[in-house]
Amino acid sequence: MFSLSAKIQDVFNEPACEKNHGKDAKARKKGCSKPLTPGAAAGGCAFDGAKIVLQPITDIAHLIHAPLACEGNSWDNRGAASSGPTLWRTSFTTDLSELDMVMGQSERKLFKAIREIKEAYAPPAIFVYSTCVTALIGDDIEAVCKRAAEKFGLPVVPINAPGFVGSKNLGNKLAGEALLDHVIGTVEPDDAGPYDINILGEFNLSGEFWLVKPLLDRLGIRVRACIPGDARYLDVASAHRARAAMMVCSTALINLARKMEERWDIPFFEGSFYGITDTSEALRQIADLLVRKGADPEILDRTEALIAEEEAIAWKKLEAYRPRLEGKRVLLNTGGVKSWSVVHALMEIGIEIIGTSVKKSTVEDKERIKQILKDENHMFESMAPRELYAMLSQHKADIMLSGGRTQFIALKAKIPWLDINQERHHPYAGYDGMVELVRQIDLAIHNPIWCQVREPAPWDCLPAVEEEMLGEEGTRATVDAFKEFAGTTAGDFGEC
Ligand code: SF4
Repeated sequence: MFSLSAKIQDVFNEPACEKNHGKDAKARKKGCSKPLTPGAAAGGCAFDGAKIVLQPITDIAHLIHAPLACEGNSWDNRGAASSGPTLWRTSFTTDLSELDMVMGQSERKLFKAIREIKEAYAPPAIFVYSTCVTALIGDDIEAVCKRAAEKFGLPVVPINAPGFVGSKNLGNKLAGEALLDHVIGTVEPDDAGPYDINILGEFNLSGEFWLVKPLLDRLGIRVRACIPGDARYLDVASAHRARAAMMVCSTALINLARKMEERWDIPFFEGSFYGITDTSEALRQIADLLVRKGADPEILDRTEALIAEEEAIAWKKLEAYRPRLEGKRVLLNTGGVKSWSVVHALMEIGIEIIGTSVKKSTVEDKERIKQILKDENHMFESMAPRELYAMLSQHKADIMLSGGRTQFIALKAKIPWLDINQERHHPYAGYDGMVELVRQIDLAIHNPIWCQVREPAPWDCLPAVEEEMLGEEGTRATVDAFKEFAGTTAGDFGEC
C-alpha cells in the first residue's frame, strides 16, 4: 500500500499540470478532488477512471478482481469503438463472494481466473484491476500477476487503482502509470520510422478518430499508438519508439505524456481535433514536431496544402447550413469537449452562442473564448440545474449542447438537446466531424417533434374540444364523460 501512496503523491505533484503551478506544497499534496456535495451524484471512483482509460485497448482481457458490482459499475460506459478485436467488451471478473474472502481464497481465485482466460481466449495480455474490496483485504495483485506472467508466458499487468484512493481523474492517471511501469517499452518494433507519432488521451468515441486518421495517412504520418482508442497491446508496448506525440485530453494522461518525453525523448503538445481551426493547428504542430525530430521539412508544405484543401471543403459544406441556422441561439454546457474550438466554428456560420461552460477549460481556452465571444458574461463555471431550467424554459436558447446528465433539464423545458460528451453517438472530430456536429444541430432544432411537444395538452384545451365534440353530433353525455376522464370540472377549463 505504501508504494500506491507514493505513486498517488507523485501523480498529484504533476509538474506539467498548469493548475499545480499555482498551488503550495500542502494544497498539491491534497490533489484536485473536491469534497463531494451531499445529495449530488459522486461521479466515478479511481478504479472506474483507470478502467475508462484502459478498456479501449481492444485485444486484451480486462479482469476485474472484485465482487461482481464493480465490473457492472464500470463496464463499457463510454462509446469507444474498435476496428477489429472484440475481447475488450467481454466482461471478466473474479466475482468474489464473502466466503472467498473469509476463507482466504481470493488470490487463488484470481490466479485461476487468469489461467482460464489464457486457455479460453489466448489474449496478448491480461490487465488485472484491483478494487476497494480486494485492496482492503490485502490481496497482493502485483505478486499474483508476476507469478501468473511467469507461469503462463504472457504479460499480466496489475492496475493498482482501488476505488477508495480517489476520484475518477486520479484513476485515469494511475492507469497511465501502470502503462509506464509495465507495458510501454517492453516490445521493440522492427519498423520504427521518422513519421511515427503517438496520440494520447484519444478515446475514439463513436469512432471519431477514424475521421482524423485518413488525414494523417495522406501526409504519410503513422500513428504508432493511439492510447487508448482502438489500440492494440503491441502498439502500446512499442509506443516508446514514436518521434512525437499529441495529447488530446490533458486531464486524463498528462503524466503519461510528460514521462514519455523524459524517458524516451518524445516531445508532445496539447491539441484538439474539435473544430476546423483546431484540427488544422493540430496537423501543423504534428508536422512541426516531426521535422524537429528529423523528418524531411517538405512535410510542412504538404501539411499546409492538405489543410487548405480540407478547410475549403469543410467551410463549403458548413455554408449550406447557414440559411437554416443563422441567428439560432446555442447554449454550450460541454464539460470536457474543448469549448472554444466548437464556439468558433458555430459562430462562423452565424449561430449565436448565448453561454458556454468553462469548467474544464484551461486558462488559455478561457482567454480565447473571451476574445471570440467578446463578452465575459457568456462564460460560466457551472450552472445550477434550476438556473439552467429557468434559462431554457424562457426560450433564451434554441438548443443546448451538453452531456447526458443535463439532458432532462432541456427536455423538460421542451428545448432540443444534443449530446456532445462521451456517450454521444456521432463522431465530431476533424473537419468532417465539425460538419457532422452542425448537421446534428440542424436536425435537432428542426425536428418536427418540437411543434407537437410544445402544443398544449388536450386537457388544457377542454373548451375547444367540447365545442368540437358537440359540433360532431356528440351528445352532452359524451362531453361530460370526457371531462370526467380528463379529471377536471367545468369551472377549471384552461384557455387555448
Ligand atoms: S472499486 Fe470501490 S468505489 Fe469503485 S465500484 Fe468497486 S466498490 Fe465501488
